Amino acid sequence: MDMEKAIKETHAYRCLDCGKCTAVCPLARLNPIYSPRLTVERALWGGDLAHDRLLWSCLTCEACSERCQSDVTYAEFIRHLRTRAWEGGQSGECAHGGALQTLMRMMTKNLEQNRLGWLRRGKVAERSDTLYFVGCLPYFEVIFQELDFPGHKVARSTVKALNRLGITPLVLENERCCGHDLLWEGDVDNFCRLAELNLQTIEESGAQRVVTSCAECYHTLAVEYPRYVGGPKAEVIHISELLAQELPTPTTSRRSTKRVTYQDPCRLGRFSGLYEPPRQVVASLPGVELVEMERNRAQALCCGTSCWTNCGADNKEIQVERLREAKATGADLLITACPKCQIHFRCAMSDEKVGQEARIEVEDLVVLAANAL
Ligand code: SF4
Ligand code: SF4
Ligand code: SF4
Repeated sequence: MDMEKAIKETHAYRCLDCGKCTAVCPLARLNPIYSPRLTVERALWGGDLAHDRLLWSCLTCEACSERCQSDVTYAEFIRHLRTRAWEGGQSGECAHGGALQTLMRMMTKNLEQNRLGWLRRGKVAERSDTLYFVGCLPYFEVIFQELDFPGHKVARSTVKALNRLGITPLVLENERCCGHDLLWEGDVDNFCRLAELNLQTIEESGAQRVVTSCAECYHTLAVEYPRYVGGPKAEVIHISELLAQELPTPTTSRRSTKRVTYQDPCRLGRFSGLYEPPRQVVASLPGVELVEMERNRAQALCCGTSCWTNCGADNKEIQVERLREAKATGADLLITACPKCQIHFRCAMSDEKVGQEARIEVEDLVVLAANAL
């Protein structure tokens, strides 16, 4: 994409130079040379940003766009700049030595995967109207075993929750990574390869509805696939939406035995506007009470890093800040509807220097719901 088109599509040309974006940006508060306002200004003045290392630091959280009165979609603007930089041979600094990016690119090839080893008691079918898109949970379980990340538990809980709703889903042996992280890193070619492979498999399955348990898979399949590869025809729905539709309406009379607080994942909240379904799910669970963090819904603080790129001291600080905010609610449990939020929070807490005021148990919403069903 050329720069002119990027500026037009993201409304960057409307920028008023007000600086509200920089004022709310969690990174700019920690790094005085980081400024979304200045990045837009430099682009508008024809500056060459391809070699700007800070391009890869943006969390793509859209907290800035929430404040922008000119409707500049800054995260998308950054994505376009990254794509141009990527095409020119630049890239961000991969966390974990690039293992996750390598895995994603391997999935663009013709390969055989053992993707269903996690399936135990849950009921799945060879054909079904509902397809459960598992995403990279089975890989994350292995890669992040030192963090005790329970990827299999999230997948099993999703199948259990669907079964309890009377749905026997189809799960795919040859599903690929949704491609979210490659897209946001600027590697559009490999993103499109993954998207086309997934699209073909979804269409061949005959499913009418695709359920995800990951906020990023959800947004990628529902919004980016139609934009880049023209599909899927099937409806895409996050498990929290489905549970909110199907679970009983909450009553206020139940005594609570567990207090939980909720992390709005950026792709589910600010990007998709799905603030209420996860809260409705919590409200319908017996004995569970939701206590909100000070910054919630559109004002929620990001979990601190994105697309396994440029994760450093500032990111850790943001994660610890958010964990402190969660702990300050007095909740027993921090729940989220995105596996990656959970991984990043667990990672932050694995640092022994992190004090008790930022330590809280983290769980996926679907695990909490499935345990109660
Ligand atoms: S908030 Fe919007 S208008 Fe203001 S400087 Fe940032 S991008 Fe420009
Ligand atoms: S998307 Fe998030 S991290 Fe990036 S500039 Fe905006 S507020 Fe800052
Ligand atoms: S916070 Fe996330 S991206 Fe950063 S090192 Fe930890 S697991 Fe990796």
